[in-house]
Amino acid sequence: MQTLYDLTREAMAAWLADWGYGRYHANRLWAALYRHGGDLSGLRADLHARLVAETRFALPQTAVAQTSSDGYTRKFLLRLHDGQTIETVLMQFEGRDGTPRTTACLSTQVGCAMGCVFCATGQMGFVRHLRPGEIVAQVLFVNRQLPPHSEPLRNIVLMGMGEPLHNYENTMTAVEILTDHHGLAIAPRHITLSTVGVVPGIIRLADEQRPFRLAVSLHGATDAERQALVPPARRWPLAELMAACRYYSKKRQRRIFFEWTLIAGQNDTPAQAHALGQLLRGMQAHVNLIPLNPTPGYAEQPTGETAVKQFQAILTAYGLPSTVRQRRGIDIAAGCGQLKAATPGYAA
Ligand code: SAH
Ligand code: SF4
Repeated sequence: MQTLYDLTREAMAAWLADWGYGRYHANRLWAALYRHGGDLSGLRADLHARLVAETRFALPQTAVAQTSSDGYTRKFLLRLHDGQTIETVLMQFEGRDGTPRTTACLSTQVGCAMGCVFCATGQMGFVRHLRPGEIVAQVLFVNRQLPPHSEPLRNIVLMGMGEPLHNYENTMTAVEILTDHHGLAIAPRHITLSTVGVVPGIIRLADEQRPFRLAVSLHGATDAERQALVPPARRWPLAELMAACRYYSKKRQRRIFFEWTLIAGQNDTPAQAHALGQLLRGMQAHVNLIPLNPTPGYAEQPTGETAVKQFQAILTAYGLPSTVRQRRGIDIAAGCGQLKAATPGYAA
């Protein structure tokens, strides 16, 4: 059965043309899905009836919804049509001018094949890729969770469960749908894709001139240190990864965000900060430092505040801007690397 959210506007027009409906109907269907809250009842009765009978457009069901104690973060465990579950996070920040800013953190896979040792998604292993429509539906879903009359969601990070460049085609189709001017119209500069460092994917993003922002998870500045935390670093050594990043920067004329999960005694020493500084020197880069969030399968501790400041000061000396990621939603396991599917039988 065709899921409507899997289709780009062009694909939807082609598919309705097969049914004998022209552009006018395709445009109205698109607007109904992405501008009018999924209400298809205004479409021509025969088309409406056929869509109801032959396609899928229900949004995922919420199995569990949790709100962090500070009220800023909400996490939703969503049940997909085959019973698999994913997590989507809605984060509220106060913008610089005091206006609230809402960001959704989307999943791209059920589980993840990459196996990073400190990540709850990696610890659960790979189950399956998400379809484009399952990525898009997370945005439609969270939009409905916003208070009435609030601004629709404008910021997206592809940093939930899964490795987006391991599910390249579906993720790109989803981004095309999310950014479509006649639909949700999310600005590409408000979308950030985070990758563990899938080199062929980074090169492809550059060649295809994909307009969103790119974040690359590093965590180690030597191959040995990185491989201990991030198994795919064996397949794509740092020299290859950095060459791909430089290629991307040159082609896209954009800076890259580099993520570094700070783990006490593992990758937070001054020597390691210097190694990172040397690795990124001369690049258009911004480093996001993420003190380790707890996960069931990894016993190490996050770096303390003083060591974080020291690490940051060393990066500054190399001319590298950096930000320490605000710790949000940890009490409901909605922080970076804490997302996972429901364990069998849970919240059934
Ligand atoms: N698969 C992609 C995107 C999802 S993970 C990637 O790995 O980049 C998003 C970010 O959270 C990554 O930088 C990841 O390394 C980081 N992360 C994973 N587990 C974490 C944990 N327990 N604490 C802090 N950050 C973590
Ligand atoms: Fe997968 Fe990213 Fe988690 Fe690594 S950190 S296991 S790539 S989701």
